[in-house]
Amino acid sequence: MSKTIAVIRGDGIGPEIMNATLRVLDELKTGLNYEFVDAGMAAQERCGELLPQATMESIARHRVALKGPLTTPIGGGFSSLNVELRKRFDLYANVRPAITIPGTKARYDGIDLITVRENTEGAYGSEGQTLSEDGDTAHSQIKVTRRGSERIVRYAFELARRQGRKKITVVHKANIMKTTSGLFLKVAREVAAEYPEIQCNEMIVDNCCMQLVMNPQQFDVIVTTNLFGDIISDLCAGLVGGLGLAPGANIGTEAAIFEAVHGSAPDIAGKGVANPCALLLAACQMLGHLGLEDQAQRVRAAIRDVLARKDRVTPDLGGNGSTASFADALIDSL
Ligand code: NAD
Repeated sequence: MSKTIAVIRGDGIGPEIMNATLRVLDELKTGLNYEFVDAGMAAQERCGELLPQATMESIARHRVALKGPLTTPIGGGFSSLNVELRKRFDLYANVRPAITIPGTKARYDGIDLITVRENTEGAYGSEGQTLSEDGDTAHSQIKVTRRGSERIVRYAFELARRQGRKKITVVHKANIMKTTSGLFLKVAREVAAEYPEIQCNEMIVDNCCMQLVMNPQQFDVIVTTNLFGDIISDLCAGLVGGLGLAPGANIGTEAAIFEAVHGSAPDIAGKGVANPCALLLAACQMLGHLGLEDQAQRVRAAIRDVLARKDRVTPDLGGNGSTASFADALIDSL
């Protein structure tokens, strides 16, 4: 296979974990090529822009990007580069697996679930946000559309079908938010009827949070709106050992961007101790997206193997290794 992807090394620990990740990917001999482009602080230093046109064009051309974390400058006009990328490429599905890996600080064994979060509408739109002159009353709008709901629920069902997953839980708050969450639930029921082989249940978001903490093994795929998905997916990351192991994919109609959930970790940047696992697991999602699921499984097996032995892993996972020794161990066990 000859396929080129855009690679954004990112800020802080980004270059360190990207280097480790690409070393492991290269061992797979998949024929994957990289076009390195900049975004974030690295781009600003090099060309005075946080999100250069050349980076956008590279993502648009290759339609797949692997991205290191970007530091969002505090203050200034730019709210978030990630939000900007999401908008530009209509990245409507945020797909976040949470899987227990033995040897980590997971709270439960046997968790294997995926949160599919709607990424473009819901409570996160900037439209309709107002603050009264005295600063005492704030208003915001929630936008839910049939189109937005249908495509995210369909994405979740198609993912379940592809991966042989058996059950989808539609998470909502339609008992209180009768119009917005109500529309999402109504559309979800319509889409679910087209997939009779996949079990579908419904859960109110507050109950879902409790169930996730009490009995997370009951979940397989969760599909929900933007705000609920944001919160639930972090809760799930916490259940399986925290941000160092949490990958995420942002899938759109025009492109897909794969990244670790964590940020640029300025406190440990440059020290060579960053855990590359989350980015590597995001790279596994990317391999699956590119039709290379067997290779993704090889890397996941290597991660499980190295974490079980803990010999060369980074301090956040209880080891005394470095980013480089972790990558060496992964390569040895591929
Ligand atoms: P963070 O995720 O960077 O760090 C939180 C804590 O987790 C830190 O103590 C850090 O050392 C640790 N940590 C994170 N990743 C780790 C890894 N791979 N290995 C070992 N330890 C790790 O969150 P923050 O400090 O709130 O944010 C720093 C910057 O990152 C901010 O500018 C923020 O805007 C940005 N950020 C970017 C993204 C993204 O690009 N997707 C996501 C979140 C935050």
